[in-house]
Amino acid sequence: MDLMGNKLNISEIFYSIQGESSYAGFPCVFIRLSGCNLRCNYCDAQYTWESGEAMDIDQILSIVNTYPCDLVEVTGGEPLFQEHCSELLEKLVQYGKTVLLESNGSVSLEDIPDEVIAIIDVKCPDSGSGNSFYSKNLELIRKRIQKKQNSCELKYVLSSRSDYLFAKSFIIKNSLMHDLPNHFSPVEKILSAQTLAEWMLKDALPVRLQLQLHTILWPDITRGV
Ligand code: SF4
Repeated sequence: MDLMGNKLNISEIFYSIQGESSYAGFPCVFIRLSGCNLRCNYCDAQYTWESGEAMDIDQILSIVNTYPCDLVEVTGGEPLFQEHCSELLEKLVQYGKTVLLESNGSVSLEDIPDEVIAIIDVKCPDSGSGNSFYSKNLELIRKRIQKKQNSCELKYVLSSRSDYLFAKSFIIKNSLMHDLPNHFSPVEKILSAQTLAEWMLKDALPVRLQLQLHTILWPDITRGV
């Protein structure tokens, strides 16, 4: 039984600076959906594991439209875990927004509209959520970028040297080096950005070092940024 009707469970909607992906640095409206099927040990959004506020798509859009911004990211938690996420993405596209979706990589990307830019995690072994990548997503990602260049990006959050080696081998094994952006992001206080940069330079790896901009801008704020 669908207890939510056609509503989505929302953790928060806010306006901030995009901290990750190729869109880092741009002002962006974030729609954060509640609920996640994974339990990463570095999770900085554990509050999304609790239920949020039920809202229908019109309510969500009316809040989004209060902000002077056409870049919108749907994130979580794991947004695709909610039944009506694709409808929300579709509506945002229809309203002329540039729509980013952040997903943890464990759920199928099949139903997301072609216009959406999907930023997909590949969880590494030391995250506590290793082996969660939904392998059929690789084929879906290839189809999406054939249809529309730059419609997918991959993100690897790294805690250790072994995570780095895993991410490097995932990219090489799946020939992902040149077809889409691959972002390597160190877990704060666990792996230094400098160490990660040195590994990347030594291997001449054409991936992007990504530092979470919002945590640099607002180090003491954990929600709404
Ligand atoms: S997938 Fe994201 S929201 Fe879910 S536990 Fe991992 S870091 Fe947290």
